[in-house]
Amino acid sequence: MSEDGYLPLHKQQHSEPLYVVPKDLCTRCGACDPICPVDCISFDKHKYPVIDTKTCVDCGLCVKVCPGIDFDYTAQYQKMFGVEQPPEGLGGIYKSAFLTFANNPQVQAEGSGGGLVSQLLIGMVKEGIIDAALTVGYEPEDPITPTPVICHTEAEIRATAGSKYCVVPHAKVIRDVKKLEGKFAFVGVGCQIEGLRKLEKVYKPLVRREIFTIGLACHGTLEKEGTTELLSHRRLPQEKIKRFFYRGGNFPGKFQIETLDGQRLDLHRFDYKDGAYNYLYHLYTPQRCLMCPDYSAEFADISVSDFWVRGEDGEYLHPEGTSMVMCRTERGQKILQQMRESGYITAMPLGQQEVEASFDHLYRDKRVSPFVRIQWRETQGLSVPQYHLPISPPTKEDLRHEGLRQATFIFSKRKWTRQLMLVIFFSRFGEVFTAVKMRYKAFKASRRLRKQASKKK
Ligand SMILES: Cc1cc2nc3c(=O)[nH]c(=O)nc-3n(C[C@H](O)[C@H](O)[C@H](O)COP(=O)(O)OP(=O)(O)OC[C@H]3O[C@@H](n4cnc5c(N)ncnc54)[C@H](O)[C@@H]3O)c2cc1C
Ligand code: SF4
Ligand code: SF4
Ligand code: SF4
Repeated sequence: MSEDGYLPLHKQQHSEPLYVVPKDLCTRCGACDPICPVDCISFDKHKYPVIDTKTCVDCGLCVKVCPGIDFDYTAQYQKMFGVEQPPEGLGGIYKSAFLTFANNPQVQAEGSGGGLVSQLLIGMVKEGIIDAALTVGYEPEDPITPTPVICHTEAEIRATAGSKYCVVPHAKVIRDVKKLEGKFAFVGVGCQIEGLRKLEKVYKPLVRREIFTIGLACHGTLEKEGTTELLSHRRLPQEKIKRFFYRGGNFPGKFQIETLDGQRLDLHRFDYKDGAYNYLYHLYTPQRCLMCPDYSAEFADISVSDFWVRGEDGEYLHPEGTSMVMCRTERGQKILQQMRESGYITAMPLGQQEVEASFDHLYRDKRVSPFVRIQWRETQGLSVPQYHLPISPPTKEDLRHEGLRQATFIFSKRKWTRQLMLVIFFSRFGEVFTAVKMRYKAFKASRRLRKQASKKK
């Protein structure tokens, strides 16, 4: 085995496919594909990268750029921001933050949040800042399989608007970018941006290309079965589907389909967050996401997320379609400012407290639990990702929380248990349960906020 963990298994006889790294470490970001000098990596039906052992020349580069096995937070923080450690909280380092939305109401409506990402990309193409945007759309012949797309026009960018809560090895698009002239902006969740950063380290010409990075906050993605099993539960054959929406309709959106005859159907009564996604997360989130601490895409030029902050009445503020933006680099800040001044977007400044309020509820999930899981796997002799961050031993409270959390994932392991849970979640009973849960959450938030307010007085 080489120093960085690459095991040239193809030299041995084996019958299994040879994956770039063990599957339970792979985030399926796609970064290993563009670095391969002989183009011998393809993606299986679950989007894991598989090596063609007949053509592989055993250079180890694919493993070298892999953020799934190793991503050095300390070195990357030092390089991008001149500090050794990420700050407390999930926001990472940013120069300024804004609550934003696209000024074109159609773009705002098409986006998952405020259409900010699509509108920024459109503005950047129109102003000549970039030649094309690297986004995620759907396969032309398969409306439920997300795939990387290179967009040169406003229409192309708008056609790929909206979050695809599904595994997609988006960074593989860099293989095509290498062959093209011009400037690009790349949209991606944390692990995809991390893959790009590692690619830049190994393949220097990429640094000169100055790809602008727009990060998307990410609690966890979903396996494609999350989509296919939901459709089969609703008895909707894939052949009848023209388009799939993870957040269709009014903000914050619902899982929806558009049928070939132009009908829009909701797949769940409640919005994506309090309804479908929250449930599907427990059934279809890849194990690798549960070990990932990069919630806010900490190494992008700008990071974009929803603004899940509640008011004193317990309801979400700004329900009309907004996106929160954090500008991390000079370049990110400059471009956001330029787009604002040119009238593409509206951006209202947010303070650090407001940013943190939007992320607080996921702190344990993304900054504590991943390391509790990593330490537990180590005790079991299982492979773990390396982040080069100091890890504190878990407290009793961490372990208790993790035990409860793991219990919510037990139905994810088998198809029949997942399907059983889908029947329960999406039944009449499940709907009443969701409605009560939503009211309870709003009540709890309202009580907490009112207590905080009265303490301040
Ligand atoms: C898997 C995933 C998980 C997310 N989890 C959270 C979360 O927990 N909390 C939170 O606040 N926000 C989360 N987001 C971000 C949020 O859903 C919105 O994407 C974000 O707020 C931007 O909204 P917008 O309207 O400005 O973007 P839009 O104008 O809708 O543009 C979205 C852009 O993202 C691209 N895109 C869509 N899916 C993917 C993908 N899988 N990989 C790479 N690019 C993609 C689209 O092609 C488009 O260019 C997540 C996004 C994804 C893709
Ligand atoms: S070891 Fe080199 S040749 Fe083989 S798959 Fe990886 S990058 Fe390609
Ligand atoms: S680079 Fe990305 S897709 Fe390739 S093996 Fe690593 S995590 Fe998986
Ligand atoms: S949770 Fe982390 S590993 Fe999973 S998709 Fe999001 S950024 Fe990638």
